[in-house]
Amino acid sequence: MKYIVLMGAPGAGKGTQAKLLEKRLGLPQISTGELFRQNFSKQTELGKLAKTYIDKGELVPDDVTVAMVRERLSQSDCANGCILDGFPRTLAQAAALDKLLAEFNSQINVVPYIRVDGDVLVDRLVKRAEIEGRTDDNLETIQNRMRVYFEQTAPLLDYYRTKGLLVEVDGDQPIEAVHNDLYQVVNAA
Ligand code: AMP
Repeated sequence: MKYIVLMGAPGAGKGTQAKLLEKRLGLPQISTGELFRQNFSKQTELGKLAKTYIDKGELVPDDVTVAMVRERLSQSDCANGCILDGFPRTLAQAAALDKLLAEFNSQINVVPYIRVDGDVLVDRLVKRAEIEGRTDDNLETIQNRMRVYFEQTAPLLDYYRTKGLLVEVDGDQPIEAVHNDLYQVVNAA
């Protein structure tokens, strides 16, 4: 079983890299952001609730997010592990994930951190807004997502570093090069 938690600021390329790893490793990518967006397309209560936070660049409450991840991880395609993209985002979520995996007699194998510097990130997000048309990719929301990332999610880097799980990858390289570095890191774990 391999449980991989991909870390990186908004715009670092987590989603792109998670999809490439999914293909190469045959492990499903679990993106909480995508799960929320799918729920919203289907107009579920969860999706409608999540949307009110997403559009402000705020985090969806931990209990809602953890319950959704619990359900997803229990599905059979995750039996051999998965690639988590965008979860956990708070220390409470990280603690909940440890507990959840312990229930499956498992644990996180590695936490690759795709490192990219601040100003490159905002540029990338503004470009993505033009291409994908995500409603949370406007400048004001982007700036709030960055603030939320630094306040609530960046502390997880130390949490995983202390556990000896964090491995840094230079995210300021072409997509293929980042992918190859990540692949090595994951294989070595
Ligand atoms: P993403 O697609 O990962 O950029 O996520 C888009 C938005 O979904 C975020 O800005 C949050 O509002 C929400 N979201 C995604 N993952 C989480 C999470 N683990 N905890 C809380 N909110 C989340």
